[in-house]
Amino acid sequence: MICEIKKNHLPGEYLAISNIKRIYDDDCIRIEFCLENGLQTEILWYSIDKEYEKYICDDRCDAAIATLIQAAMRYGYKVICSDYPISEKLYYNLQYHVIPQLYLAGTKRTSDIKILAPVTKECFHGELVATGMSRGVDSFASMYEYCNNFELDDYRVNTFTYFNVGAHHGTDVIMGRGSESKEELFRNQLDGTKEFCKKYNYPLITVESNIAWILAFSGMFTVQKFDQSHTLRNLGVVILLQKGISKYYYSSTYNLNEFKVDLKKDMAYYEKWLIPHLATGSVEFYQANQNWRRIDKIQKLLDFEPCHDYLQVCLIQTGNCGQCLKCRRTLMELDAFGDDALEKFKNSFDIETYKRDFRKKWFGDIMELKEADDSEAHYFEETFLCAIENHPEILGNLIKEKREGIQEVQIKKKTILKKYPSKAAESVGTAKKDDKYKYLGEWSPWIALEGNGGEPIFVYKKYVEYI
Ligand SMILES: [Zn+2]
Repeated sequence: MICEIKKNHLPGEYLAISNIKRIYDDDCIRIEFCLENGLQTEILWYSIDKEYEKYICDDRCDAAIATLIQAAMRYGYKVICSDYPISEKLYYNLQYHVIPQLYLAGTKRTSDIKILAPVTKECFHGELVATGMSRGVDSFASMYEYCNNFELDDYRVNTFTYFNVGAHHGTDVIMGRGSESKEELFRNQLDGTKEFCKKYNYPLITVESNIAWILAFSGMFTVQKFDQSHTLRNLGVVILLQKGISKYYYSSTYNLNEFKVDLKKDMAYYEKWLIPHLATGSVEFYQANQNWRRIDKIQKLLDFEPCHDYLQVCLIQTGNCGQCLKCRRTLMELDAFGDDALEKFKNSFDIETYKRDFRKKWFGDIMELKEADDSEAHYFEETFLCAIENHPEILGNLIKEKREGIQEVQIKKKTILKKYPSKAAESVGTAKKDDKYKYLGEWSPWIALEGNGGEPIFVYKKYVEYI
C-alpha cells in the first residue's frame, strides 16, 4: 500500500508509518515506528519496562496513528498510511468522527486526512484498569475516585502509569528554568512515584518516548506544543499497551460548560468529546473526576491521606519549589480551605516559608490574578470564593478603598448584582439602567454598593458611573 501511495503523492503530502520494530535493551523494550514523508525519515520510539512486555501491541499501527493524527492534519498531510493494520473501531472513530470535526476547527492548512491501512477486527481483553500517577492533583483525584472503594469491580483502577511524553519540560513563567534537566526531572520525580506505588501496592508501568521531540522539533509536523497535544501523547502510549489495559482514565480539566475546539489551544477544552473516540475495541477511555472543578479536587484530597506526603505539582523541580505557577496556585488553593488544610501537606511544601513570605502578597494580588485574561484566571476565581467561605481572614476586607466625595453611583447598563466581587459569585439581583445605589467603596474592578438590607453587593465598575 505504501508503495502505491508514494507513486501517487508528492513528498510532504503523505505520512507513512512502517517498519515497526521491537528491540530488546537491558531491562527495557524499545518499540520503534518508522515515519517517512518523502522529505525525511524519523523514528518514533517508546521504551517500556521488560516486565510489561506481554501488554505491548506492536502488530498494528494504532498507537502511532492515534498519537499523530492531529499533528498530521495541522501539517496538511493528505494521507496517513501504513502496511500494518489499524483496529477497525479506531479507524472508524478517527475517520468518521474525529477527523471531520477537527478539520472544521483547523486553519487553512489543516487537511481532512485520509487513513489508508488494512483494518483488523482482532481485539484483546486485558485485565488492567489504569490511570496516570504523576502525584499531581489530577492523579490523586483519580486515585481517590477509582481506587479502593469504587463500587464497580471492572471499573476499579488496579494499575498506575507514568509516561515521559513532554510534561517534564522544567520551565515556568514565574521562575524560568529550574536546575534539573528534563531528563533529571522525569527520573527524580519517578523515584518518588515508584516509592508511592510500592507503599500502596500498585504496579507502575513506566514508558519513555521521543514523541515530544517528534512533534515539536523534528520538522515533520507543525510544532505541537504540550498543551495542544497532551491527550493524544498520553493516550497513544496506552494504546500501545492495549493487550493489557482495557480501561484508562484521564483526569478532566474542563467541563462541558467550558467546551471549545481550537487546535491552537489546550486540548483539554475538547477532550470530553475526543477521549471516548480513541477507543480501539481493546481499550476504552474515560474522563475521570466527573464534573469536579480544580477546587473540588483539592477539597477531596484534604481527607485523602495517601496524597498528603507525596503531592508533587512543581513545574521546575523534584519536590515543590513553593513559588512557581503550579506551586503558587496549589498553596493558595489549600490555604483557601484554612490553616488545617495547609498543615496536612507540610511534608509536601515548606508551609512556614509560604506563610511568612508569600501568603500575604499572593492573596493581596488575587483580584488581579483572577481578573486576568489568561488560562490561570479561573483557578484563582475558584480559590477566591473558597477563601471567602472557609478562610476569609486571608483576604481581609472585600472593600479595599473608598473614593473621597463619592456618595452614590448610577447604573449605566442593565447588569447582574453579585454577593461577592467575583463573576462566579452568587447573583443577588439585577440592576436596571439609571438605578441609583449608595456607594460603599471598591476592590477594583468591582464596586461595592449598599443592598436593601444594608449589606454590600458588588457590580463591575464598567457598569456604573460615580455621581
Ligand atoms: Zn514549584
